[in-house]
Amino acid sequence: MKTEKPLQDARTKTVATVGPACATKATLVELLKAGADVFRINMAHGGRKAHETAISNIRAAAEETGFPAGILIDLAGPKIRLGQLTQDPLKIRNGQQVRFVRGVESKTDDQLTCNYESLIDEVTVGEDIVLADGQARLEVTDKTPDTLVCNVVDGGKIRSRQGVNLPGTNLSVPALGEVDVDNAIWAAGQGVEFVSLSFVRNAKEVDQLKQLLADNNSSALVIAKIEKAEALDQLDSIVQTAGGVMVARGDLGVEIPIEQTPAAQKRIIKKCLQYRKPVIVATQMLESMHTSKQPTRAEVTDVANAILDGADACMLSGETAIGEYPVEAVSMMNKIMGETEKAFASRNSRMTAHSEATGWEISDAVIFGSAQIARRVEACMVVIASTGSKTALLKSKQRDYVPTVCITDDISSFRAMSLFWGVIPVMCPTPIEETRLRTFVNNWAKDFTELKSGAPFIIITDTEVLPGIHDSVLVAKID
Ligand code: PEP
Repeated sequence: MKTEKPLQDARTKTVATVGPACATKATLVELLKAGADVFRINMAHGGRKAHETAISNIRAAAEETGFPAGILIDLAGPKIRLGQLTQDPLKIRNGQQVRFVRGVESKTDDQLTCNYESLIDEVTVGEDIVLADGQARLEVTDKTPDTLVCNVVDGGKIRSRQGVNLPGTNLSVPALGEVDVDNAIWAAGQGVEFVSLSFVRNAKEVDQLKQLLADNNSSALVIAKIEKAEALDQLDSIVQTAGGVMVARGDLGVEIPIEQTPAAQKRIIKKCLQYRKPVIVATQMLESMHTSKQPTRAEVTDVANAILDGADACMLSGETAIGEYPVEAVSMMNKIMGETEKAFASRNSRMTAHSEATGWEISDAVIFGSAQIARRVEACMVVIASTGSKTALLKSKQRDYVPTVCITDDISSFRAMSLFWGVIPVMCPTPIEETRLRTFVNNWAKDFTELKSGAPFIIITDTEVLPGIHDSVLVAKID
């Protein structure tokens, strides 16, 4: 397996959502070459057969190009959606009265239904209901056993099956519904690297999914999607428990006042730096590229600012899934990343995670010390030899600009590292061991880099790669 990834590629990772616009193997290969690192499959759309075809196409594209191509299965969670409306779209006007009734189909223009049976029982008078990602807002003014009477506060166009958000209501619906459990077990069977959970409210829900995956022999990282005010209240424990985090700005911007989302994004990213967890910034990053070859200036600046905040990855949703220019969107994302990283290298490399007790004290110390040595000897790269991915994650969170290559003999770790900022994952086809390591690094450097003979580099070995040694830091020179 070969990787074409050059040492100077963008350090920030790109997550591309798979959909009808890019699900063939040929387009996935193009996306990988344009800079996609992780592919997201959104379980809210499409059926199992389409999802399985997408997974096999992603694996085939990865095999062809040598890129790890991590796969993220995004569980829909308790997303409430409108039922069938009488018209699509349906225009509702300010001051108009509409009613939520039980069932799944509206019978008149002023009736609304949804897929959450307990909505009428759990929402109280005075609360807000937001429709279609903020296109319309209702206030509940009255309630009967089978009806919620609402006043349209902000009118707009709504469509069947668009989202229903209840910013002020604490819903009893479980984070992991029956469909999510079934999808998580399926994801475990597919051997994917990441599984994300929508509408997380507390750490217990994250733990539940971790346990479910573990029970089904999956070591996938659980990504907690932060998109509710309740999750922001429980941020510390959620970030500590999760394997990674997503700033899910689509729903977050409806669940909290939209003007509060930039501050929330910065706060979430800072927490992820503190607890050394990878964090993805998602939604509307290059929204206009659905239909345009060029993003807006504001979108370009949004991507750059996410990187400056400390995001490990930026995500494309509809831009790659259903947009007209999926390859151009990935390519543009990577250009913005590369230029931003270059311009702000010294600022970013000061953004190191501060040391909290994590149970990783030895690896932490080794990573800290190795960066000092790398600086002193002006190392051309840092090579981590590891059977897992933990040391690579710690190194990633150091935001060091010395090119970092992580060699592993474990395919799951190789793929998981696709999300780690600044880490170039390399698969070693034979077990990593002392005598072969030096030769492998040298051959890899010759084949895939332009590093000059005699250039010093650092080798960090993870637990037990060298017999009897916990971790080690070695200095070598390119042959
Ligand atoms: C979001 O809300 O920003 C998000 C990523 O989730 P989804 O695309 O499932 O709405």
